[in-house]
Amino acid sequence: MKKIAIAAIERTTDLSQRSTDPAVVFFKGPVPTSLREFSTKALHSILSVREARHIAEALDAETHLLKGPRGLVGALASIGANFCQDHTFEIIAYRTRENIGTTRRMVSHDSVRRMDAMLRGLTFNNVDHETGRVLICPHGPDPVLLGIRGEDPASVVKAFSQIEIDEPIERVMIFKTNQGTDAHLSCYRKIETLRPYQSTVIAGVVSGAPWVLRGGHVIFRTGDETGSVDCAAYRATGPLRETTLQLVPGDSVTVSGGIRPRPLGELTLNIEKLEVTGLVETVRMENPSCSNCGTRCESMGKGQGFRCRKCKVRLAKTSRIQKLEHRKITLGVYLPPPRTHRHLTKPASRNGIHRHTSFETYNATIDQTLESLASISIAS
Ligand SMILES: [Zn+2]
Repeated sequence: MKKIAIAAIERTTDLSQRSTDPAVVFFKGPVPTSLREFSTKALHSILSVREARHIAEALDAETHLLKGPRGLVGALASIGANFCQDHTFEIIAYRTRENIGTTRRMVSHDSVRRMDAMLRGLTFNNVDHETGRVLICPHGPDPVLLGIRGEDPASVVKAFSQIEIDEPIERVMIFKTNQGTDAHLSCYRKIETLRPYQSTVIAGVVSGAPWVLRGGHVIFRTGDETGSVDCAAYRATGPLRETTLQLVPGDSVTVSGGIRPRPLGELTLNIEKLEVTGLVETVRMENPSCSNCGTRCESMGKGQGFRCRKCKVRLAKTSRIQKLEHRKITLGVYLPPPRTHRHLTKPASRNGIHRHTSFETYNATIDQTLESLASISIAS
């Protein structure tokens, strides 16, 4: 089995790609706590190759490197992955060799939309509903024809069987994954401990009014008792961006996302999820109404009082009235549209779902799943 695994990696890896750095790790026995912790940390922190090497040696894991050592981090982390809190499945169909490299995929978008309507709730992020864009096909030269994400193996196979495909399929595989689970957004941090490339959650208070950068991105500053950080809603995040524009200093927020470095050591939190947990009251100052006729008075000048244009009644400058403004946002969770999601972002359609189903449960439907799989025609 080891020989087959290594040969498969060697056969399918394009080592000429600069960012390709595969590794194979074999580990026998129950997963120790140290590897679990390493895996959890890989979801929201930066791990060094040195740490990965150290843990591989300590656990006596068998490692195979094809090029550099970077792949060790991901290989070890995937062995230690914990799916107890939540998980999803993805069915991936691969392209045949002659089609790899072409960017157009012969997949009927109408059939994807029909499948989405039919299996909504059991699959997710098939289509971006705001734009109608199909999200299951990548656009690059990679070997993936399409990938459908869903709640269980039977559902993703059923979804796949609904898609009209007009090019040969090299193979189909089903993966148990942490996509769509927010697994990377599990670590609450104080602002002073933020470092570049972490994924994090911070709870704080808006400390500066939002402003719009050239290009349309919105930035607002959020602080906690340890410091403050700029939070960014990119233009592509659409409705999320609109929400952030409505924030005012004093509002309470919980912000999740990735930390990016800026020049001069400053950091930005790229918002993947925004929860508005408290809204302050905002007031607008208005000129008083005339005590005689009820008409809105006019100001007699800066620092002066007010006067009714009709009756000439005068009112003191202290008579200005505070009017409570209607806040255009409500408490709640705001997410960017699916087209801008990172792989792990939990979509709104999975709200409240925490899947800790055991494999035995899936086994109950395995015959049906295998039968559906067998009906998929694979290029020989
Ligand atoms: Zn009047």
